[in-house]
Formats: sequence, C-alpha cells, structure tokens
Amino acid sequence: MTVPASTPTPADALDLTGEIARDLIRFDTSNYGEGRSNGETDAAEYVAEKLRALGLAPELFDSEPGRTSVVARVPGRNRSTGALVVHGHLDVVPADPANWSVDPFAGEIRDGMLWGRGAVDMKNMDAMILASLTDVLADGGQPERDLIVAFFADEEAGGVFGSHYLVDTRPDLFAGATEAISEVGGYSIGIGGERAYLLQTGEKALIWLKLVAHGPAGHGSRLVTDNAITRLAEAVAKVGRREWPIRLTNTTRQLLAEIARILGVEPQSMGPDELALATGTASGFIQASLRTTMNPTVLTAGYKHNVIPDRAEALIDVRALPGEEDAVLAELAELVGPDIEIVVMHRDVGLETEFAGPLIDRIVQTLHTHDPGAPVLPYLMPAGTDNKALSKLGIKGYGFAPLKLPADLDFPALFHGVDERVPLDALVFGRTVLTDLLSTY
Ligand SMILES: [Zn+2]
Repeated sequence: MTVPASTPTPADALDLTGEIARDLIRFDTSNYGEGRSNGETDAAEYVAEKLRALGLAPELFDSEPGRTSVVARVPGRNRSTGALVVHGHLDVVPADPANWSVDPFAGEIRDGMLWGRGAVDMKNMDAMILASLTDVLADGGQPERDLIVAFFADEEAGGVFGSHYLVDTRPDLFAGATEAISEVGGYSIGIGGERAYLLQTGEKALIWLKLVAHGPAGHGSRLVTDNAITRLAEAVAKVGRREWPIRLTNTTRQLLAEIARILGVEPQSMGPDELALATGTASGFIQASLRTTMNPTVLTAGYKHNVIPDRAEALIDVRALPGEEDAVLAELAELVGPDIEIVVMHRDVGLETEFAGPLIDRIVQTLHTHDPGAPVLPYLMPAGTDNKALSKLGIKGYGFAPLKLPADLDFPALFHGVDERVPLDALVFGRTVLTDLLSTY
C-alpha cells in the first residue's frame, strides 16, 4: 500500500474525522467512467487497516484489478433486529487542477476547512463512518443493531465495479440488512433564515443514453443533405430544449408543504419552483427533483476539417422521476425520430420510500438532540447513489451524512464542483451525530 505524501498540518487541531478525510483525499481515486479509473485499492487498504485497528475483520473485493471495495460486519447488541448498512464510496470524479485554488489531491486545511476532491463527495462521510465507529466501539461498546459497513468502488460511474458487483456476486455480505444510510442527505440548508436538514428518502432513476446518427462519409466539399453531424445536432437540440412538466411525488409534495410551513405561507400561494427557490443554495437540487431532466453531456464526431464523418454520437444524461422511466424513453424516441439510434449505456432504478418509520424517527430525534429545533425535511435526490444497488436486495436506502453547515456556504454546488471543501467543525458534528445514531438505533 502506498501512503500519500504527508504535508505539515496542524495535526493537534485536527479531529480524527478530518484526519481520515484528509488522508483519503490524498489517494487520487479519480473515476473517469466507462471502466477508466485510477482505482480504489490504496484507499481501500487504508480503510481496511482502520477497520482492523478497531478489531473488525474487513474483507476486500476486487471486481477488476484495482477496483477494490471493502466490507465489514459489526455485531450489534440486539441481533434480532435488521442490520443497518452504513456505506460510502471511495472513488471521486476527476478534478482539473488548473481550475482550483488548491491542489485537489493535497488535502489542504485552509480557513477552518478541508479542501480537496472528495471533501464533499464523499470522503467526508467515509471518514465520519470510521471515526464514529471508533467512538461506538470504544471501551468494549457495541452498536445497537448489526452494522454492515461498506466502502464501494466505482459509485461515480454507476457502481458496476462496486456496489452492483458485490450485490450481484456476494449478496450474503448483506444478509439480514433491511435499511441503509449513505451520502447526499443530512446536510443543513437555509430556508427563510432558518436552518433545516434535508434527509434523502428517494432518488430519481438514471438512464445514460447514447444517440447515434449515421450518414454517408465523403469529401467536405460535396453537396450532402443527410450529414450525420447535422442530424445528430438537430436531435440533441430537441432533447436539450425539451422542458419536462412538473409532477409531484409523495416526497416532493411533502417537502414543498414543509418549505411553505417554514416560510409561513399557504403551499398553494406559491408555485413549486418558487417554493424550491426559497431554499437558496439547495434550490438547484430541489427544482431538478420536481421533473424529469435530460442533459446532453458529450458530443463526438469527425476527425478532419474536410472529411464528412459517417457517424456522430452524443451522450445524454437522463434523470427520470421514479416510475416514469419507460414513458420518458418512449417520448425521447419520438422526439429524436426513427433515424437516430438510441443506445442505453447504463440504466438504474428510481427509489422512493416513506418519510416515516423507526429509522426516520431516530434520525430526526438525533438531529434534534444536536441541533435543537431545526426542521428535518424529506427530499428526492435528483442524482443516484449506491442505494440503487442495495435496493435489489430489498434494502431501503436513505441519504444521511449529517453536516451542520454555515448559511453562506453553497454546499450543493460543491458536489463535483471546483474548490470542493467542507468545514472541519461540520465533520465533528457529523461524527457526533452518527455515533449517537449508531449507538441507539
Ligand atoms: Zn457520491
């Protein structure tokens, strides 16, 4: 295992959570997608070492060389209840250092924050899980129920080499698990000057499509009416310009009602988008959860200025509301027309669970203990997590990586963003809240 080069840091000022998150950021686990990745093995071995130091027996799994996930089971006091999966992913999206104020893989501490790729998504939560386990297991302690702690490879490319691989080949690892908690929920936002927490109780479906236009290749000087690039561009423009209607689900209806309550207005007096906008920095996430979205993300065609290519391709990132996937695909096919080939590159389910039940109650109580009076709101995440893979085993997944954040930090923008960073005191808050939750639920 390669330990990343260490730079002087105020180690005495750094909580264990910050220390582990910093160490993990220094492993460049960039995942470029379509199987191209720096790999997670070094980070996985680091995590396994931390788990072994706690007296646990982690197992490492390689789906492909370099694509390593780690799983360990922690016996609880009450083994008759369902086990809770507490999971994170070890890969990150790439970062272009030219755009950043700091080296994205140095794990710098500045202005009370830890900077680097993964500080938000999601080496922060990986560290919170490890630090809170240290607390829970201290002095012979135990969690209330069995925990299955998992650190997956490849989440940023749909989990094919991580969570899906393990769920498909080793479902026994998750035997007895009924619920899971992980990323992209549990963080605080500001609504009308009040701090509130978003608890993720659903995820939109994910459909990654490739559109392909075919046409005759030839000299760039020819008169050509069915140029593949022209036809692809027309299809891409239609897809990109399509405005999908708002359709509220149980989760988004409940969320908007809560936002209206906090603002002190009647829900009907403001439109859904207007209510979403009242959440400030979180509005981008919330508006995207109110409808299906389709974004063209990659264009590929041609190789020389005076050669007409016989093929042009575009990648489209479709995020459909849960249950609408097939209808959305049918409408997209109609939109682009029969001459455009549609290839489904990767597809995964949408999820939605109730904002109710013992785990939700426990999470809300725990947050209220550590941040009294702050409302906790359900939300439907517009993106996806490894909870999609776990749902194949009937495990209900939630986004709960608790962070109490300053009102002026645009936290949602930092997911996959430039200058990704997290306040050190938010990491300490997360550790404390998780410790409390895992000790009592
Ligand atoms: Zn993530």
